[in-house]
Amino acid sequence: MPSPDSSPTPLGSRARMPVGFVAHGAPTLALDPTRGADFRRWGEQLPHPTAVLVVSAHWEGQPVAIGTTERRALLYDFQGFPDDLYRVEYPAPGAPELASRVEALLGRATRRVPTRALDHGVWVPLVHLLPAADVPVLQISMPSALGARELFALGQRLAPLRDEGVLVLGSGNITHNLRRLDWRGTGSTPAWASDFDGWVVDVLVRHDFDALVDYAHKAPALRDNHPTEEHLQPLLVTAGAASQGTQPTSFPVQGFEYGSLSRRSVQIG
Ligand code: ZN
Repeated sequence: MPSPDSSPTPLGSRARMPVGFVAHGAPTLALDPTRGADFRRWGEQLPHPTAVLVVSAHWEGQPVAIGTTERRALLYDFQGFPDDLYRVEYPAPGAPELASRVEALLGRATRRVPTRALDHGVWVPLVHLLPAADVPVLQISMPSALGARELFALGQRLAPLRDEGVLVLGSGNITHNLRRLDWRGTGSTPAWASDFDGWVVDVLVRHDFDALVDYAHKAPALRDNHPTEEHLQPLLVTAGAASQGTQPTSFPVQGFEYGSLSRRSVQIG
């Protein structure tokens, strides 16, 4: 066993894992068996990972921070939802060896925040995707202020983990304008949301990662969909981790909720 404190050596050789982007949506997804079923089906089709590394919209910060490597109580980082949601547990083991590998791959540009637990961008989808909670999970912060190209480069630096059985996941939403959601869910999807979602599909299927990185200039109706961009930015990390070689892109979860909130989740590889 490599030392958890200094294991720059790979975690082991495995068949290359796919990378993913999960649409975590509203946190009530964690309690919703219908919407959750899409994630369960996806999880059942995925190769079983040795560990999961997540970059979530709900933890921004640079340099890249490495969260807890122990099993900790979850963060319930939302307000005004049903009491049951604050009792959800996801007691996945910590991933100290993966944390050391991330440090080795990113060099000195990291810091440790051992008290930082998993936020809802991590556990809401994982409750369904890996319901046994037996795979070690590590969250790192998203250095969003560095911009699209650097986030893509971060994914590229993390890509070797795929050959060690690690599932690299970005967690956000391809469209995300909370002020324009239809919480009663009775309306149709506005064109500004479906157009943006369709643009992302097009660039991902064609592996046009240059266009994705330049979304600020190329994507339609950016500000309608993302008044702020933190829910889109995890997709850049996913794309960076997927950018070597030609791998199929699929969308294991699709559609919209609350009118304009895309549920589209992505698997590459
Ligand atoms: Zn969110």
